[in-house]
Amino acid sequence: MKHAIALIAAFLTCVFATSTRAADNYVAYAQPVIAFTHATVVDGSGGKPAHDQTLVVDKGRIIALGDAPRTKVPAGATVIDARGKTLLPGFVMMHEHLFYPTGSNAYTEMVVSFPPLYLAGGTTKMRTAGTMMPYADLNLRKDIASGKLVGPDIDVTGPYLNGPGLPIAGVHVLADANDAERTVNYWADEGVTSYKAYINITRDELRRVIDVAHKRARKVTAHLCSVTYREAADLGIDNLEHGFFAASDFVKDKQPDVCPGAAVNHSLATLDPASPELKSLIRLLVDKHVALTSTLTVFETFVAGRPKAPPAALDLLLPEVRAQYEKTWARIQATPNPDQAVLYPKLAGLEKQFVDAGGVLLAGTDPTGYGGVIPGYSAKREIELLVENGFSFEQAIRIATLNGATYLGRDRNIGTLAVGKRADIVVIDGDPLKDPTAIENMPLVFKNGIGYDTAKIFAAMKGTVGLH
Ligand SMILES: [Zn+2]
Repeated sequence: MKHAIALIAAFLTCVFATSTRAADNYVAYAQPVIAFTHATVVDGSGGKPAHDQTLVVDKGRIIALGDAPRTKVPAGATVIDARGKTLLPGFVMMHEHLFYPTGSNAYTEMVVSFPPLYLAGGTTKMRTAGTMMPYADLNLRKDIASGKLVGPDIDVTGPYLNGPGLPIAGVHVLADANDAERTVNYWADEGVTSYKAYINITRDELRRVIDVAHKRARKVTAHLCSVTYREAADLGIDNLEHGFFAASDFVKDKQPDVCPGAAVNHSLATLDPASPELKSLIRLLVDKHVALTSTLTVFETFVAGRPKAPPAALDLLLPEVRAQYEKTWARIQATPNPDQAVLYPKLAGLEKQFVDAGGVLLAGTDPTGYGGVIPGYSAKREIELLVENGFSFEQAIRIATLNGATYLGRDRNIGTLAVGKRADIVVIDGDPLKDPTAIENMPLVFKNGIGYDTAKIFAAMKGTVGLH
Protein backbone atom coordinates (compact mmCIF):
# COMPACT_ATOMS: atom_id res chain seq x y z
CA MET A 1 0.00 0.00 0.00
CA LYS A 2 2.73 2.44 1.03
CA HIS A 3 4.57 1.55 -2.12
CA ALA A 4 1.47 2.19 -4.23
CA ILE A 5 0.94 5.63 -2.69
CA ALA A 6 4.57 6.54 -3.33
CA LEU A 7 4.17 5.42 -6.93
CA ILE A 8 1.01 7.48 -7.38
CA ALA A 9 2.69 10.52 -5.86
CA ALA A 10 5.66 10.07 -8.18
CA PHE A 11 3.30 9.71 -11.13
CA LEU A 12 1.33 12.86 -10.23
CA THR A 13 4.54 14.84 -9.77
CA CYS A 14 5.72 13.64 -13.14
CA VAL A 15 2.45 14.65 -14.88
CA PHE A 16 2.49 18.04 -13.20
CA ALA A 17 6.14 18.66 -14.06
CA THR A 18 5.48 17.75 -17.69
CA SER A 19 2.52 20.12 -17.97
CA THR A 20 4.48 22.97 -16.36
CA ARG A 21 7.27 22.55 -18.90
CA ALA A 22 4.73 22.45 -21.74
CA ALA A 23 3.31 25.80 -20.61
CA ASP A 24 6.78 27.35 -20.53
CA ASN A 25 7.39 26.02 -24.03
CA TYR A 26 4.55 28.14 -25.42
CA VAL A 27 6.29 31.36 -24.39
CA ALA A 28 8.04 33.25 -27.19
CA TYR A 29 8.66 36.57 -25.38
CA ALA A 30 9.02 37.15 -21.65
CA GLN A 31 11.51 40.03 -21.63
CA PRO A 32 10.49 42.91 -19.33
CA VAL A 33 10.74 45.63 -22.02
CA ILE A 34 9.45 44.92 -25.53
CA ALA A 35 8.97 47.44 -28.35
CA PHE A 36 6.91 46.81 -31.47
CA THR A 37 8.06 49.15 -34.24
CA HIS A 38 6.39 50.28 -37.50
CA ALA A 39 3.09 48.51 -36.70
CA THR A 40 -0.43 49.22 -37.89
CA VAL A 41 -2.57 49.60 -34.75
CA VAL A 42 -6.34 49.03 -34.48
CA ASP A 43 -6.72 50.13 -30.87
CA GLY A 44 -10.20 48.79 -30.00
CA SER A 45 -11.87 52.21 -29.63
CA GLY A 46 -13.61 51.84 -32.98
CA GLY A 47 -11.59 54.78 -34.40
CA LYS A 48 -9.46 54.79 -37.53
CA PRO A 49 -6.31 52.63 -37.62
CA ALA A 50 -2.93 54.26 -37.04
CA HIS A 51 0.02 53.33 -39.26
CA ASP A 52 3.78 53.19 -38.58
CA GLN A 53 3.34 53.04 -34.81
CA THR A 54 5.71 52.14 -31.99
CA LEU A 55 4.21 50.40 -28.96
CA VAL A 56 6.36 49.83 -25.86
CA VAL A 57 5.58 47.30 -23.15
CA ASP A 58 7.25 47.47 -19.72
CA LYS A 59 6.57 44.71 -17.18
CA GLY A 60 3.15 43.86 -18.60
CA ARG A 61 1.92 47.43 -19.18
CA ILE A 62 1.79 49.59 -22.29
CA ILE A 63 4.02 52.58 -21.47
CA ALA A 64 4.23 54.26 -24.89
CA LEU A 65 2.25 54.24 -28.12
CA GLY A 66 2.67 56.70 -30.98
CA ASP A 67 4.12 57.59 -34.37
CA ALA A 68 7.34 55.65 -34.90
CA PRO A 69 9.57 58.66 -35.71
CA ARG A 70 8.56 60.41 -32.47
CA THR A 71 8.26 57.47 -30.04
CA LYS A 72 11.47 56.47 -28.29
CA VAL A 73 12.44 52.83 -28.00
CA PRO A 74 14.05 52.42 -24.54
CA ALA A 75 17.67 51.27 -24.43
CA GLY A 76 17.86 47.52 -23.90
CA ALA A 77 14.33 46.86 -25.19
CA THR A 78 13.66 43.70 -27.15
CA VAL A 79 12.54 45.05 -30.54
CA ILE A 80 9.92 43.29 -32.68
CA ASP A 81 9.92 44.71 -36.20
CA ALA A 82 6.18 44.88 -36.89
CA ARG A 83 6.34 46.15 -40.48
CA GLY A 84 3.45 44.44 -42.32
CA LYS A 85 1.84 43.42 -39.03
CA THR A 86 -1.31 44.71 -37.34
CA LEU A 87 -1.70 44.96 -33.55
CA LEU A 88 -5.11 44.53 -31.92
CA PRO A 89 -6.13 44.49 -28.25
CA GLY A 90 -6.60 41.03 -26.73
CA PHE A 91 -10.19 39.91 -27.33
CA VAL A 92 -12.74 40.13 -24.53
CA MET A 93 -15.23 37.40 -25.46
CA MET A 94 -18.53 37.17 -23.65
CA HIS A 95 -20.20 33.89 -24.55
CA GLU A 96 -17.53 31.27 -24.04
CA HIS A 97 -17.83 27.90 -22.33
CA LEU A 98 -15.30 25.54 -20.82
CA PHE A 99 -17.49 22.57 -21.77
CA TYR A 100 -17.96 21.13 -25.24
CA PRO A 101 -20.62 18.83 -26.78
CA THR A 102 -19.21 15.30 -26.83
CA GLY A 103 -22.35 13.26 -27.49
CA SER A 104 -26.12 13.14 -27.09
CA ASN A 105 -26.93 15.85 -24.50
CA ALA A 106 -23.45 15.16 -23.10
CA TYR A 107 -21.08 17.99 -22.30
CA THR A 108 -17.51 17.46 -21.14
CA GLU A 109 -15.34 20.03 -19.38
CA MET A 110 -12.26 20.83 -21.51
CA VAL A 111 -9.93 21.55 -18.59
CA VAL A 112 -6.75 20.86 -20.59
CA SER A 113 -7.45 22.01 -24.14
CA PHE A 114 -9.77 25.02 -23.95
CA PRO A 115 -7.79 27.50 -21.81
CA PRO A 116 -4.65 27.50 -24.01
CA LEU A 117 -6.71 27.29 -27.22
CA TYR A 118 -8.84 30.30 -26.33
CA LEU A 119 -5.62 32.24 -25.71
CA ALA A 120 -4.05 31.02 -28.97
CA GLY A 121 -7.11 32.41 -30.79
CA GLY A 122 -6.57 35.92 -29.40
CA THR A 123 -8.88 35.82 -26.38
CA THR A 124 -7.13 37.25 -23.32
CA LYS A 125 -10.31 37.73 -21.29
CA MET A 126 -13.47 35.65 -21.44
CA ARG A 127 -16.76 35.49 -19.65
CA THR A 128 -18.16 32.00 -19.45
CA ALA A 129 -21.88 32.06 -20.26
CA GLY A 130 -23.12 29.12 -18.23
CA THR A 131 -21.42 26.02 -16.90
CA MET A 132 -21.95 22.30 -16.35
CA MET A 133 -19.03 22.11 -13.89
CA PRO A 134 -18.95 25.33 -11.87
CA TYR A 135 -16.12 24.27 -9.59
CA ALA A 136 -13.93 23.43 -12.57
CA ASP A 137 -14.58 26.89 -14.04
CA LEU A 138 -13.76 28.53 -10.69
CA ASN A 139 -10.59 26.48 -10.18
CA LEU A 140 -9.41 27.15 -13.74
CA ARG A 141 -9.95 30.86 -13.14
CA LYS A 142 -7.75 30.65 -10.05
CA ASP A 143 -4.99 28.57 -11.68
CA ILE A 144 -4.83 30.88 -14.72
CA ALA A 145 -4.72 33.98 -12.51
CA SER A 146 -1.85 32.51 -10.47
CA GLY A 147 0.09 31.57 -13.62
CA LYS A 148 -0.13 27.83 -13.02
CA LEU A 149 -2.11 27.35 -16.26
CA VAL A 150 -1.98 29.18 -19.59
CA GLY A 151 -5.26 30.77 -20.73
CA PRO A 152 -7.39 33.90 -20.79
CA ASP A 153 -8.47 35.53 -17.54
CA ILE A 154 -11.97 34.28 -16.77
CA ASP A 155 -15.10 35.93 -15.41
CA VAL A 156 -17.19 32.97 -14.25
CA THR A 157 -20.95 32.80 -14.73
CA GLY A 158 -22.76 30.38 -12.41
CA PRO A 159 -24.68 27.25 -13.43
CA TYR A 160 -27.74 27.71 -15.67
CA LEU A 161 -30.84 29.03 -13.90
CA ASN A 162 -33.66 27.09 -15.50
CA GLY A 163 -36.97 25.39 -14.79
CA PRO A 164 -38.07 21.87 -15.76
CA GLY A 165 -37.82 20.55 -19.31
CA LEU A 166 -34.14 20.53 -20.25
CA PRO A 167 -32.74 17.04 -20.91
CA ILE A 168 -29.23 17.80 -19.64
CA ALA A 169 -28.23 15.87 -16.52
CA GLY A 170 -25.78 18.49 -15.23
CA VAL A 171 -28.35 21.28 -14.82
CA HIS A 172 -30.21 22.05 -11.56
CA VAL A 173 -34.00 22.41 -11.93
CA LEU A 174 -35.36 25.48 -10.13
CA ALA A 175 -38.43 24.79 -7.94
CA ASP A 176 -39.59 28.41 -7.54
CA ALA A 177 -38.40 31.98 -6.87
CA ASN A 178 -37.16 31.09 -3.37
CA ASP A 179 -35.02 28.34 -4.83
CA ALA A 180 -33.71 30.84 -7.39
CA GLU A 181 -32.73 33.22 -4.57
CA ARG A 182 -31.02 30.45 -2.61
CA THR A 183 -29.12 29.31 -5.73
CA VAL A 184 -27.96 32.83 -6.65
CA ASN A 185 -26.71 33.46 -3.11
CA TYR A 186 -24.97 30.10 -2.91
CA TRP A 187 -22.96 30.71 -6.10
CA ALA A 188 -22.20 34.31 -5.16
CA ASP A 189 -20.62 32.92 -1.99
CA GLU A 190 -18.63 30.46 -4.09
CA GLY A 191 -17.25 33.31 -6.21
CA VAL A 192 -19.16 33.53 -9.47
CA THR A 193 -19.44 37.06 -10.86
CA SER A 194 -22.42 36.69 -13.18
CA TYR A 195 -25.57 34.63 -13.80
CA LYS A 196 -27.33 33.17 -16.79
CA ALA A 197 -31.05 32.44 -16.94
CA TYR A 198 -32.17 29.85 -19.44
CA ILE A 199 -35.07 28.90 -21.72
CA ASN A 200 -37.54 27.57 -19.11
CA ILE A 201 -37.30 30.13 -16.31
CA THR A 202 -40.47 31.91 -15.11
CA ARG A 203 -40.86 35.68 -14.79
CA ASP A 204 -41.10 35.33 -10.99
CA GLU A 205 -37.87 33.38 -10.82
CA LEU A 206 -36.09 35.74 -13.21
CA ARG A 207 -37.26 38.79 -11.23
CA ARG A 208 -35.80 37.27 -8.06
CA VAL A 209 -32.55 36.30 -9.81
CA ILE A 210 -32.07 39.87 -11.05
CA ASP A 211 -32.95 41.47 -7.70
CA VAL A 212 -30.66 39.22 -5.64
CA ALA A 213 -27.79 39.34 -8.16
CA HIS A 214 -27.94 43.15 -8.34
CA LYS A 215 -27.95 43.39 -4.55
CA ARG A 216 -24.73 41.43 -4.64
CA ALA A 217 -23.27 43.61 -7.43
CA ARG A 218 -23.41 40.86 -10.05
CA LYS A 219 -24.89 41.03 -13.54
CA VAL A 220 -27.48 38.79 -15.18
CA THR A 221 -27.66 37.58 -18.74
CA ALA A 222 -30.03 35.06 -20.34
CA HIS A 223 -30.73 32.79 -23.24
CA LEU A 224 -34.50 33.22 -23.12
CA CYS A 225 -37.62 31.56 -24.49
CA SER A 226 -40.30 31.26 -21.75
CA VAL A 227 -39.76 34.95 -20.93
CA THR A 228 -39.72 37.52 -23.75
CA TYR A 229 -36.95 40.08 -24.32
CA ARG A 230 -39.44 42.85 -23.47
CA GLU A 231 -40.39 41.20 -20.16
CA ALA A 232 -36.74 40.63 -19.24
CA ALA A 233 -35.79 44.22 -20.11
CA ASP A 234 -38.65 45.47 -17.94
CA LEU A 235 -37.38 43.26 -15.08
CA GLY A 236 -33.98 44.98 -15.35
CA ILE A 237 -31.81 42.32 -17.01
CA ASP A 238 -28.30 43.45 -18.06
CA ASN A 239 -27.61 41.34 -21.15
CA LEU A 240 -29.33 38.97 -23.58
CA GLU A 241 -27.48 36.21 -25.41
CA HIS A 242 -27.61 35.27 -29.10
CA GLY A 243 -28.68 38.61 -30.60
CA PHE A 244 -32.34 38.30 -31.60
CA PHE A 245 -32.18 34.54 -32.24
CA ALA A 246 -33.87 33.74 -28.88
CA ALA A 247 -36.59 36.44 -28.89
CA SER A 248 -40.00 34.86 -28.31
CA ASP A 249 -41.64 38.33 -28.40
CA PHE A 250 -43.13 37.82 -31.86
CA VAL A 251 -44.93 34.51 -31.26
CA LYS A 252 -48.69 35.07 -31.65
CA ASP A 253 -50.73 33.92 -28.60
CA LYS A 254 -47.61 33.14 -26.57
CA GLN A 255 -48.55 31.85 -23.08
CA PRO A 256 -46.76 33.65 -20.21
CA ASP A 257 -43.83 31.69 -18.69
CA VAL A 258 -44.02 28.98 -21.39
CA CYS A 259 -41.39 28.42 -24.07
CA PRO A 260 -43.29 28.00 -27.36
CA GLY A 261 -40.50 25.88 -28.90
CA ALA A 262 -40.23 25.86 -32.69
CA ALA A 263 -42.83 28.65 -32.97
CA VAL A 264 -40.02 31.09 -32.03
CA ASN A 265 -38.00 30.34 -35.18
CA HIS A 266 -41.13 30.43 -37.29
CA SER A 267 -42.16 33.83 -35.90
CA LEU A 268 -38.68 35.23 -36.54
CA ALA A 269 -38.54 33.77 -40.05
CA THR A 270 -41.72 35.66 -40.95
CA LEU A 271 -40.90 38.86 -38.98
CA ASP A 272 -40.64 42.03 -41.04
CA PRO A 273 -37.31 43.72 -40.11
CA ALA A 274 -39.00 47.11 -40.59
CA SER A 275 -42.02 46.32 -38.38
CA PRO A 276 -43.05 48.79 -35.64
CA GLU A 277 -43.07 45.95 -33.02
CA LEU A 278 -39.41 45.25 -33.72
CA LYS A 279 -38.45 48.93 -33.74
CA SER A 280 -40.21 49.35 -30.41
CA LEU A 281 -38.36 46.38 -28.88
CA ILE A 282 -35.01 47.72 -30.10
CA ARG A 283 -35.87 51.13 -28.62
CA LEU A 284 -36.70 49.52 -25.25
CA LEU A 285 -33.43 47.53 -25.17
CA VAL A 286 -31.41 50.64 -26.03
CA ASP A 287 -33.23 52.82 -23.47
CA LYS A 288 -32.83 50.21 -20.71
CA HIS A 289 -29.13 49.66 -21.60
CA VAL A 290 -29.60 45.95 -22.21
CA ALA A 291 -26.53 44.67 -24.05
CA LEU A 292 -26.92 41.94 -26.68
CA THR A 293 -24.29 39.27 -27.28
CA SER A 294 -23.72 38.26 -30.88
CA THR A 295 -22.89 34.56 -31.34
CA LEU A 296 -23.12 34.25 -35.12
CA THR A 297 -20.44 31.53 -35.02
CA VAL A 298 -22.78 28.90 -33.59
CA PHE A 299 -25.81 29.80 -35.74
CA GLU A 300 -23.71 29.67 -38.90
CA THR A 301 -23.05 25.96 -38.31
CA PHE A 302 -26.76 25.14 -38.81
CA VAL A 303 -27.03 26.84 -42.21
CA ALA A 304 -26.35 24.71 -45.31
CA GLY A 305 -23.75 26.18 -47.62
CA ARG A 306 -21.85 28.15 -44.97
CA PRO A 307 -18.13 27.29 -44.66
CA LYS A 308 -17.11 24.25 -42.66
CA ALA A 309 -14.82 24.63 -39.64
CA PRO A 310 -11.26 25.03 -40.99
CA PRO A 311 -9.17 21.84 -41.37
CA ALA A 312 -6.67 22.93 -38.72
CA ALA A 313 -9.54 23.42 -36.25
CA LEU A 314 -10.93 19.97 -37.05
CA ASP A 315 -7.45 18.50 -36.43
CA LEU A 316 -7.85 19.58 -32.80
CA LEU A 317 -10.78 17.20 -32.31
CA LEU A 318 -10.66 13.74 -30.79
CA PRO A 319 -11.30 11.37 -33.76
CA GLU A 320 -14.66 10.07 -32.40
CA VAL A 321 -15.90 13.60 -31.80
CA ARG A 322 -14.73 14.69 -35.23
CA ALA A 323 -16.67 11.79 -36.78
CA GLN A 324 -19.86 12.99 -35.03
CA TYR A 325 -19.27 16.52 -36.30
CA GLU A 326 -18.67 15.35 -39.88
CA LYS A 327 -21.86 13.25 -39.84
CA THR A 328 -24.07 16.13 -38.64
CA TRP A 329 -22.37 18.54 -41.03
CA ALA A 330 -23.10 16.22 -43.98
CA ARG A 331 -26.74 15.79 -42.90
CA ILE A 332 -27.28 19.56 -42.74
CA GLN A 333 -25.81 19.98 -46.24
CA ALA A 334 -27.95 17.11 -47.61
CA THR A 335 -31.23 18.18 -45.97
CA PRO A 336 -31.09 21.96 -45.42
CA ASN A 337 -33.61 23.53 -43.05
CA PRO A 338 -35.34 26.28 -45.09
CA ASP A 339 -36.13 28.35 -41.94
CA GLN A 340 -32.40 28.58 -41.11
CA ALA A 341 -31.50 29.91 -44.54
CA VAL A 342 -33.94 32.83 -44.00
CA LEU A 343 -33.24 33.33 -40.28
CA TYR A 344 -29.48 33.59 -40.30
CA PRO A 345 -28.98 36.62 -42.60
CA LYS A 346 -32.11 38.35 -41.29
CA LEU A 347 -31.23 38.06 -37.59
CA ALA A 348 -27.58 38.87 -38.23
CA GLY A 349 -28.83 42.05 -39.92
CA LEU A 350 -30.89 42.93 -36.83
CA GLU A 351 -27.68 43.04 -34.76
CA LYS A 352 -26.40 45.80 -37.05
CA GLN A 353 -29.76 47.56 -36.83
CA PHE A 354 -29.55 47.38 -33.01
CA VAL A 355 -26.07 48.98 -32.98
CA ASP A 356 -27.13 51.65 -35.50
CA ALA A 357 -30.00 52.49 -33.10
CA GLY A 358 -27.50 53.02 -30.25
CA GLY A 359 -27.40 49.51 -28.74
CA VAL A 360 -24.37 47.88 -27.14
CA LEU A 361 -23.35 44.69 -28.92
CA LEU A 362 -20.91 42.24 -27.31
CA ALA A 363 -19.20 39.31 -29.05
CA GLY A 364 -19.08 35.67 -28.08
CA THR A 365 -18.56 32.37 -29.85
CA ASP A 366 -20.60 29.73 -27.94
CA PRO A 367 -18.69 26.48 -28.64
CA THR A 368 -21.79 24.27 -28.40
CA GLY A 369 -24.20 23.21 -31.16
CA TYR A 370 -22.79 20.02 -32.67
CA GLY A 371 -19.13 20.90 -32.16
CA GLY A 372 -18.33 23.13 -35.13
CA VAL A 373 -17.30 26.12 -33.00
CA ILE A 374 -13.78 25.44 -31.80
CA PRO A 375 -11.77 27.68 -29.46
CA GLY A 376 -8.60 28.97 -31.10
CA TYR A 377 -10.56 29.57 -34.32
CA SER A 378 -13.96 30.73 -33.08
CA ALA A 379 -13.16 34.31 -32.00
CA LYS A 380 -11.47 35.04 -35.34
CA ARG A 381 -14.54 33.67 -37.11
CA GLU A 382 -16.95 35.78 -35.00
CA ILE A 383 -15.02 38.92 -36.00
CA GLU A 384 -15.08 37.90 -39.68
CA LEU A 385 -18.85 37.36 -39.43
CA LEU A 386 -19.39 40.78 -37.83
CA VAL A 387 -17.54 42.33 -40.79
CA GLU A 388 -19.55 40.21 -43.26
CA ASN A 389 -22.64 41.54 -41.50
CA GLY A 390 -21.85 45.19 -42.29
CA PHE A 391 -19.59 46.37 -39.47
CA SER A 392 -16.24 47.95 -40.34
CA PHE A 393 -13.23 45.97 -39.12
CA GLU A 394 -12.55 48.69 -36.50
CA GLN A 395 -16.15 48.44 -35.23
CA ALA A 396 -15.99 44.63 -35.14
CA ILE A 397 -12.80 44.81 -33.07
CA ARG A 398 -14.42 47.27 -30.68
CA ILE A 399 -17.38 44.89 -30.24
CA ALA A 400 -14.92 42.07 -29.47
CA THR A 401 -12.71 44.12 -27.11
CA LEU A 402 -13.74 47.44 -25.52
CA ASN A 403 -17.47 46.71 -25.41
CA GLY A 404 -16.93 43.52 -23.40
CA ALA A 405 -14.37 45.17 -21.12
CA THR A 406 -16.77 48.05 -20.43
CA TYR A 407 -19.67 45.68 -19.70
CA LEU A 408 -17.46 43.79 -17.24
CA GLY A 409 -16.35 47.06 -15.59
CA ARG A 410 -12.73 46.39 -16.56
CA ASP A 411 -12.20 49.00 -19.26
CA ARG A 412 -9.68 51.00 -17.17
CA ASN A 413 -7.35 48.00 -17.35
CA ILE A 414 -8.10 46.17 -20.61
CA GLY A 415 -10.10 46.48 -23.85
CA THR A 416 -7.98 48.93 -25.87
CA LEU A 417 -4.35 49.44 -26.79
CA ALA A 418 -3.55 52.57 -24.77
CA VAL A 419 -0.82 53.82 -22.47
CA GLY A 420 -1.39 52.53 -18.92
CA LYS A 421 -3.40 49.49 -19.94
CA ARG A 422 -2.35 45.90 -19.61
CA ALA A 423 -0.25 44.57 -22.47
CA ASP A 424 -2.86 42.19 -23.94
CA ILE A 425 -1.92 42.34 -27.62
CA VAL A 426 -2.87 40.25 -30.63
CA VAL A 427 -0.30 40.25 -33.45
CA ILE A 428 -1.66 39.72 -36.98
CA ASP A 429 0.57 39.00 -39.96
CA GLY A 430 -0.94 41.15 -42.69
CA ASP A 431 -3.65 43.77 -43.02
CA PRO A 432 -7.12 42.67 -41.84
CA LEU A 433 -8.42 46.17 -42.69
CA LYS A 434 -8.02 45.23 -46.36
CA ASP A 435 -8.95 41.56 -45.96
CA PRO A 436 -10.60 40.48 -42.68
CA THR A 437 -9.49 36.85 -43.19
CA ALA A 438 -5.92 38.06 -42.51
CA ILE A 439 -7.01 37.82 -38.85
CA GLU A 440 -6.50 34.05 -39.18
CA ASN A 441 -2.74 34.68 -39.41
CA MET A 442 -2.08 35.27 -35.71
CA PRO A 443 1.42 34.05 -34.80
CA LEU A 444 1.62 35.72 -31.37
CA VAL A 445 -0.75 36.60 -28.57
CA PHE A 446 0.51 38.65 -25.63
CA LYS A 447 -1.23 38.50 -22.28
CA ASN A 448 0.02 40.71 -19.47
CA GLY A 449 3.21 41.34 -21.49
CA ILE A 450 4.04 37.64 -22.06
CA GLY A 451 4.06 36.62 -25.73
CA TYR A 452 2.72 33.15 -26.59
CA ASP A 453 3.65 31.27 -29.76
CA THR A 454 0.22 30.21 -31.02
CA ALA A 455 1.57 27.53 -33.42
CA LYS A 456 3.12 25.68 -30.46
CA ILE A 457 -0.20 25.69 -28.59
CA PHE A 458 -2.12 24.39 -31.62
CA ALA A 459 0.48 21.67 -32.20
CA ALA A 460 0.32 20.56 -28.56
CA MET A 461 -3.50 20.43 -28.54
CA LYS A 462 -4.01 18.28 -31.67
CA GLY A 463 -6.64 15.59 -31.10
CA THR A 464 -7.48 16.72 -27.54
CA VAL A 465 -10.77 18.67 -27.95
CA GLY A 466 -13.56 16.35 -26.88
CA LEU A 467 -11.21 14.32 -24.68
CA HIS A 468 -10.25 16.80 -21.92
ZN1 LIG B 1 -23.95 29.15 -24.67
